[in-house]
Amino acid sequence: METEAEPTCGRCRKTGEFSPPVSVVLLFAPGLSAPYPLIPGEEYCVCEACDAIERFVSGAAEAHPVTRSAGPWTRAIVIFQDGHGAEVRAKATPQMALA
Ligand SMILES: [Zn+2]
Repeated sequence: METEAEPTCGRCRKTGEFSPPVSVVLLFAPGLSAPYPLIPGEEYCVCEACDAIERFVSGAAEAHPVTRSAGPWTRAIVIFQDGHGAEVRAKATPQMALA
């Protein structure tokens, strides 16, 4: 039996907190008339112990022309291959800082 190295989170350095591979990300943005499904091009597990999942969603949204042009996302539902889902909310960004 081989021991597989546990992946370590690049942000919080924890091991053993990784999700199953992501199946699909449903992205919600004011610029989208309906939630847009993003499917990872390769198997991707994300650390569930910190805000790595939010960064993952941001990266996925920026990587796709449709969601990138829709503007900042507000909410996402990440569905994993074991069927469970996680709701992710974008951190509030002050839009009227110089009102
Ligand atoms: Zn982490």
